[in-house]
Amino acid sequence: TYGEDEGGEDELEQRPPVVTVMGHVDHGKTRLLDSIRNATVREGEAGGITQHIGAYQVLTELEGNERLVTFIDTPGHEAFTAMRARGAKATDLAILVVAADDGVMPQTVEAINHAQAADVPIVVAVNKIDKEGANPDKIRQQLTEYGLVAEEYGGDTMFVDISAKQGTNIDALLEAVLLTADAALDLRANPDMDAQGVAIEAHLDRGRGPVATVLIARGTLRVGDSIVAGDAYGRVRRMVDEHGNDVIEALPSRPVQVIGFTSVPGAGDNLLVVDEDRIARQIADRRNARKRNAMAAKSRKRISLDDLDAALKETSQLNLILKGDNSGTVEALEEALVGIAIDDEVELRVIDRGVGGVTETNVNLASASNAIIIGFNVRAEGKATELANREGVDIRYYSVIYQAIDEIEKALKGMLKPVYEEVTLGQAEIRALFRSSKVGNIAGCLVTSGIVRRNAKARLLRDNTVVQDLVTISSLRREKEDATEVREGYECGLTVTYSDIKVGDVIEAYELREKPRD
Ligand code: GDP
Repeated sequence: TYGEDEGGEDELEQRPPVVTVMGHVDHGKTRLLDSIRNATVREGEAGGITQHIGAYQVLTELEGNERLVTFIDTPGHEAFTAMRARGAKATDLAILVVAADDGVMPQTVEAINHAQAADVPIVVAVNKIDKEGANPDKIRQQLTEYGLVAEEYGGDTMFVDISAKQGTNIDALLEAVLLTADAALDLRANPDMDAQGVAIEAHLDRGRGPVATVLIARGTLRVGDSIVAGDAYGRVRRMVDEHGNDVIEALPSRPVQVIGFTSVPGAGDNLLVVDEDRIARQIADRRNARKRNAMAAKSRKRISLDDLDAALKETSQLNLILKGDNSGTVEALEEALVGIAIDDEVELRVIDRGVGGVTETNVNLASASNAIIIGFNVRAEGKATELANREGVDIRYYSVIYQAIDEIEKALKGMLKPVYEEVTLGQAEIRALFRSSKVGNIAGCLVTSGIVRRNAKARLLRDNTVVQDLVTISSLRREKEDATEVREGYECGLTVTYSDIKVGDVIEAYELREKPRD
């Protein structure tokens, strides 16, 4: 439900398409990825030994302009689908490889289905045209059945006959990819914001620790950035490209290996840059806890008494509506805020969130549900402020995440019910008992320690054992006068509301004091 806000129209810049190679087994996907990598290298990076980091970029030319194309280096639709299942969209376009000497096979059809379901345009690479018995026309014919009609046949799908083995027509294939991308997609992103992206591959490296290949979707990732991906967090210590070169800044569509996570993120996890390490950690911890809870809930068959207790305990609730300048910050803010749990007594609920200014609709919802509106890097629109004043809705504006968190934390603490601690006041020993038909038991006592105070709480002790708690001292007298308190060493008369009381019993007076919270 997060918007795809990338800043204003004039902040958007063209970014390279991200391409996945799909097709039936043995039709030449791996070979094609190899020959694309070898046919073209990024300028100034020639000679670098190419490493498999999960994705690479190549520099090519279209109509006299130099253009980059990013390839996901894992062939097949399985990785593509796994990432989609996690909500990540890491691919803009698919190259469907079909061997010209074989034809459309089951996995060819699967690949088409997956790409079409994801709304990803397809360019067809008819491979192995060097082979005897290759019949590229037959492939074109077969694919019409699946909605892929070649331009030559009056359709709008580009087909390129290639030989991955001999490196034939690789340039033409790249050109077709760019032409299709330009015609079908609006591939622009704002490079001038905190980076957001997808982890496409991650592992634990013996020497370097957790290493994740990240594909930048928007913004620029820089060394030193605080990052969170799924339940992993850290700070970018180093970035390395597919040639083993260090990268200082990674722009949209650029794949880089990121070193600096404290644990290994999952493939398909969304990466987010946040203001500071503390918040990255808070978000990661929160996700971790959620994962553990989900797992615990699965394995728990019966509700325990503790759960029931927790459920019955009254909780106050602080409702929030979050508005921010882009989906990444809104998500980060929500994750960080929900991470603030205060003794489980006050519950924080984000009832609505979105990208853009604070609107009248937001104010109406806030008014109806008694919520506070948080505007992060955004302001109120139209008559929203007026309406908020009229309805008594609190709108707060922030531009630094931790300030928002600090203030919300304070607001939550303000909602806490006080916690009390017991303070013993003193003890009095019962020396004599009188019964009064009017007031019940009157106990003649000697205060043996501390003080005894009127209206204090008290308990009755017999042989150092509590016989009854919450005995009320309803009246206190000293030498026939009403007294508010009587000190150690003095005698006094108490009226108590307990019938099983004996000479020799001890009355212990105590108070409950509000405990300060930090
Ligand atoms: P994948 O399973 O789709 O990744 O297929 P591979 O890239 O592993 O290729 C399967 C086999 O086909 C390998 O033996 C490749 O050398 C061979 N192959 C791939 N492309 C071509 C081609 O253009 N021409 C010929 N003759 N063989 C090819």
